Amino acid sequence: MIHKKWIAIAAMSLLLTACGEETNTSSGGEAKTEGVEENTETKVQGEKEEEIEEEAKDVEEVEEEEVEEQVTETQYKVNTANWSVQPIADADEKVVLVTIDDAPDKHSIEMAETLKNQGVPAIFFVNGHFLATDEKKQQLKKIHEMGFTIGNHTYSHQDLKGLTEQQQQEEILKVSDMIEEITGEKPKFFRAPFGSNTDFSKQLVADEKMVLMNWTYGYDWEKQYQNAETLTDIMVNTEYLNNGANLLMHDRDWTVEALPGILQGLEDKGYGFVDPKEIKGM
Ligand SMILES: [Zn+2]
Repeated sequence: MIHKKWIAIAAMSLLLTACGEETNTSSGGEAKTEGVEENTETKVQGEKEEEIEEEAKDVEEVEEEEVEEQVTETQYKVNTANWSVQPIADADEKVVLVTIDDAPDKHSIEMAETLKNQGVPAIFFVNGHFLATDEKKQQLKKIHEMGFTIGNHTYSHQDLKGLTEQQQQEEILKVSDMIEEITGEKPKFFRAPFGSNTDFSKQLVADEKMVLMNWTYGYDWEKQYQNAETLTDIMVNTEYLNNGANLLMHDRDWTVEALPGILQGLEDKGYGFVDPKEIKGM
């Protein structure tokens, strides 16, 4: 009983931190609060927004040059209260979204190949500082050509709350430009380092027509899960695995090793995998 309770508390803390060696519980906690606020706002504004969206649709269709995205049918939307993905109509409920952060560092190509082999779509959230060489740019291009969705994870992975507005803008816009230059496509999704968003960055991300998301759960930055065996087990058997869960993993030694088993374990539990191209854009 005590043991179970301890695990629950420990696991909760894992939900609130991510991305790297740095543990930043407070930023994750705040992100959660932000999510609740946003959700309330969404509820109130929901109907009005739909009307406006309908009106704007015709204009958008003419102006939108990214035909590729328009072709894929929208099946899911991001729930800003908990960052899960929800079916819009009759899409399959028992699904998860796979996301790989801090790419392309050392293992992103191998992770993309594993995902491809197991038929699993995913978002690779990239940091601009990894794209300094032609080799790295080619890797990103290849991941995109393999059909994966590329997301913006800022240039140098700093906590946006510690930066000026000017710096936040540079951190975000620079990467979008790099991604577009390399892949020919602007990123559709944004994830802040440590899930630490500011009012300014949220507005900027919206202005840039990116969908902001944190995540539901992830463990690969915690010491005890920095090996393939324990990581595979917790990613598949955590109590936070639910319909629409947004799974956070990183480009890391132990995660690349654990990935095939994690995907297989989720599939064995009956979960399908959301194609990020089917998630509603801005
Ligand atoms: Zn990160």
